Amino acid sequence: MRLPAYFIGHGSPMNAIEDNPYTRRLALIPRELPETPKAILMISAHWLTRGTFISAAEHPETIHDFGGFSDELFAVQYPAPGAVELAKKVMAIAPEVHADPNYGLDHGAWAVLRHMFPNADVPVTQLSIDYYQPPKYHFELGRKLSTLRDEGVLIIASGNVVHNLRMYFTSQGKQLPWAVEFDRFVKEKLLAKDFEAILEYKSFGEAAALSVPSIDHFAPIFYILGATRDDGKIEIIYEEVDGAVSMLSFQAGEALNPSSG
Ligand code: ZN
Repeated sequence: MRLPAYFIGHGSPMNAIEDNPYTRRLALIPRELPETPKAILMISAHWLTRGTFISAAEHPETIHDFGGFSDELFAVQYPAPGAVELAKKVMAIAPEVHADPNYGLDHGAWAVLRHMFPNADVPVTQLSIDYYQPPKYHFELGRKLSTLRDEGVLIIASGNVVHNLRMYFTSQGKQLPWAVEFDRFVKEKLLAKDFEAILEYKSFGEAAALSVPSIDHFAPIFYILGATRDDGKIEIIYEEVDGAVSMLSFQAGEALNPSSG
């Protein structure tokens, strides 16, 4: 049984504690899986490193890596067990990945996971993103890790297709032409499985430069493109552009009962 892999747009940390169409869509995902995952490999835009690391923590702490939000958000805990065996497996498959004994789960991971697996009962480990590597590196690493999908591992990458924090607060509720344009570009290339065009996103010009001012929130996509291989289609599971942020989320590979939203 092969599990699908997911790219999830995470947007504002407040989504972690909100109930909205986006969070309700996330909650449906486990029901569409052919089996309950044995473990989750999470790739978050918020763990950036030089070199690539994987958490080997047995009890990953819930990291509140943001400022200026409500006490309610800071009180959130996501006490999922660590996935130490999975971390070892990842390092065996990909020797360029090194163990980090301490890193827990940042909000790019738990803000998504608490809607999908609210009981925090599936072991989770997080893979870092080497900020200094080109798109192809992340894609190739995703390709290596794709075999884990056949072993009950759910691969989830968490970022945003459009993420311009500098413009975020002045643009909420607006439809910015460049954001809509870049979001549409990525969506079209995903559906056409033209991954090369997404790896070469910079050649899309100004809309790309404004949508991806730094690689952190876009890089997680490359892992899922790599993990897709040739097994079936890409399905958009959620889309919404709000100002300088896109929540576009997609599933790669077949799920039992895919529902578009
Ligand atoms: Zn983020």
